[in-house]
Amino acid sequence: MKKTLLQRLRRRWILLLAALTPPCREIVALGSRRLDAPQGAIARLQVRIHLGICTACRRYLEQIALVHEAARRSGDRPDALQDVTPRSRLPAAARERMKERIRCERSRG
Ligand SMILES: [Zn+2]
Repeated sequence: MKKTLLQRLRRRWILLLAALTPPCREIVALGSRRLDAPQGAIARLQVRIHLGICTACRRYLEQIALVHEAARRSGDRPDALQDVTPRSRLPAAARERMKERIRCERSRG
């Protein structure tokens, strides 16, 4: 399939931005450290640019942030780990509907 001019420009822009930031492995290390201690302006900018173009690093660092937040909260309340899991973001009614559906599926065999 032939790419449009806009798609080609977007691709070049992403390649340019990728060349300006360190590789994923370094971004993950920088991103993980930023949760523990403040970083310099250049490191913050590199992480932000990279996360704007790299879905994998963005998702990974979101998960690391969840674990970090859970660990922080667990110092206050041991049961707080459940508060930051994606499951807890579901409304209670939705969770109950899912449980009921699973029970129905299991009972059918
Ligand atoms: Zn990446």
